[in-house]
Amino acid sequence: MSEKIAIVTGGSRGIGAAIAKKLASQGMTVIINYCGSEDRALAVKGEIEAAGGQAEAWRCDVSDCGQCEEFVKAVMEKYGRIDVLVNNAGITRDGLMMRMSDEDFSRVIDTNLKGTFYMMRFAARHMLKAKKGRIINMASVVGLMGNAGQVNYAASKAGVIGATKSAAKELASRGITVNAIAPGFIDTEMTGVLSEKVQEQILTQIPLGTFGKPEDIANCAAFLASDEAAYITGQVIQVDGGMCM
Ligand code: NAP
Repeated sequence: MSEKIAIVTGGSRGIGAAIAKKLASQGMTVIINYCGSEDRALAVKGEIEAAGGQAEAWRCDVSDCGQCEEFVKAVMEKYGRIDVLVNNAGITRDGLMMRMSDEDFSRVIDTNLKGTFYMMRFAARHMLKAKKGRIINMASVVGLMGNAGQVNYAASKAGVIGATKSAAKELASRGITVNAIAPGFIDTEMTGVLSEKVQEQILTQIPLGTFGKPEDIANCAAFLASDEAAYITGQVIQVDGGMCM
């Protein structure tokens, strides 16, 4: 078993899968969390193991408080520690505010914001006892800038930023850092559903002139999880090609 245990929520694909692989490549045992994509999560675990790393794939719907509690309990029972928690799981349910259903608003808040809160709360209990730990929450530049058609998503990500800073203040005295990453436009299935026209329009707003890759976010997450980032807490690090400045 590796010395450090990391949980990555939504690690079955996209940004989460890249983070899981990066942390595993640095010697951590990674618990890849998924909700619906068991096959994809097992494939990520297989890739990590093929590269000589250690990983597990565990199901938990992060929007369900009881499942989060059980998930953290199960990790503690098996490994006895949680060194790094990456709250990456997220969804979109886009639509103009005037037409947005209560369900689409709540579903996004429940997964992106409440899921982050549940996982932070349950994992922090153990980090507090250990007097160390790293929490990395996935926000978005949309949480900073807003975006037409994403009232629910922008609110969830602005909420993640507020929760990150508040948790950072509560946990700092016990050696636990809490930071957020705000990606810009990253090439994943989440953004792949956007039309070519919308993608072209977004590209014009990115000074570096390309969309980001999941690995760009994974590199930042790995830094925040490393010893080199020990003096950084309560920060929102934008990885966005200059999109939001
Ligand atoms: P993605 O490709 O759609 O992957 C989403 C991941 O979240 C999947 O692994 C999915 O797992 C998991 N997930 C969704 N609902 C879940 C739930 N209830 N419980 C547990 N896991 C759940 O998205 P992505 O582009 O990689 O985005 C990852 C994170 O970065 C999200 O928080 C997103 O908001 C944020 N972000 C992305 C971009 C971008 O441009 N792509 C920009 C800014 C921020 P299953 O498939 O197993 O359900």
